[in-house]
Amino acid sequence: MNSEHTSLQLPHGRLSLPTFLPDATLGVVRSVDSADLEQCGIQAVVMNTFHLMQRPGSSTVTALGGLHKMCGWQRPIITDSGGFQAYSLIRQNARYGSLTNRGITFQPDSSARKFHLTPEKSIQLQLSYDADVVICLDDCTHVDESLAVQQESVNRTLQWARRCKQEFQRVLQQKKLQRDRQPLLFAVIQGGGSRELRQRCAGELLEIGFDGFGYGGWPLDGERKLLADIIAYTRELVPPAFPMHALGIGHPANVLECARMGYGLFDSAMPTRDARHGRLYAFTTEPAAPADNWSEPWFTYVYVNDDKSIKNAAPVSRFCDCLCCSRYSVAYLHHLFKINDSLFLRLATIHNLRFMTQLTEGLKVDQDERQGTQPVGPAR
Ligand SMILES: [Zn+2]
Repeated sequence: MNSEHTSLQLPHGRLSLPTFLPDATLGVVRSVDSADLEQCGIQAVVMNTFHLMQRPGSSTVTALGGLHKMCGWQRPIITDSGGFQAYSLIRQNARYGSLTNRGITFQPDSSARKFHLTPEKSIQLQLSYDADVVICLDDCTHVDESLAVQQESVNRTLQWARRCKQEFQRVLQQKKLQRDRQPLLFAVIQGGGSRELRQRCAGELLEIGFDGFGYGGWPLDGERKLLADIIAYTRELVPPAFPMHALGIGHPANVLECARMGYGLFDSAMPTRDARHGRLYAFTTEPAAPADNWSEPWFTYVYVNDDKSIKNAAPVSRFCDCLCCSRYSVAYLHHLFKINDSLFLRLATIHNLRFMTQLTEGLKVDQDERQGTQPVGPAR
């Protein structure tokens, strides 16, 4: 990683990279509050345009003064455009809506209303939410889809990125925000598993001009293995000075691998979802040491629901300094899990999030040490 983008200055603060952002899809990381997130060392969260426009609704968010005020969270917020959710909803079941060059129309089962999301609308919503990083609406695909589908996705993603940039500039001019209050605009690089399409998409997006980029498309193959080759290749297409967000990547091993490729931002619902299901992450090695020195396997799972946990008086991890590990045992967590107490959800979520921040802090030590000896770019 290059020192030029080891940090990212945003209106609500500076992110030191790499960093993991939990998904606060509907304006909350389930079971924990903003003070808990700060305690875990979380620097920023990802919220979701697609979901927030349905609940509580964009006019409510705006009336409450934006997402920071609504959620009592003063650190940066990245809003995703809604493209990925539209993909999940529509590509997998056409009865929920349609996707054309104009935009996306959808009607989830839970709603009596039809929603329209265009590139322009997505930008307007994200800016009205007062996001720190705004992401262009894109047309997401799975790597297994045909080349024709990937081509169409790249064409649409490029066309939408141009419209997003135009709208972004128009609204910013209207708002007359001072330079340090202006959010950044990221575009998403699509192209499935095709190097040619990834290259074309990255090249044209760089020409249009954005502050950063995301790796677009489902990042795992059919066997849930990381698409490491194409993800690394896509990072190489973008000059190291631009930050890159590995959208939807949050498995600890995948975060480590992609950070070494030069990705700086990660978000995923996986660590918090795993926590709620009693699947906790634990380092087997001292995380404060440079990640280069971690011995394999450097982390393991603690399954709270296992019989092994019933009388386990130890904390989840002896390397963790979170609220859960500093006060409570695995056995107590097991008990809370069995009696369905909401405290379990909070403690487990706090622990897995602290694990993720310890992971990215370890990767920073890695980087700093390397930069001390020689300047390096992303792994090539
Ligand atoms: Zn812990």
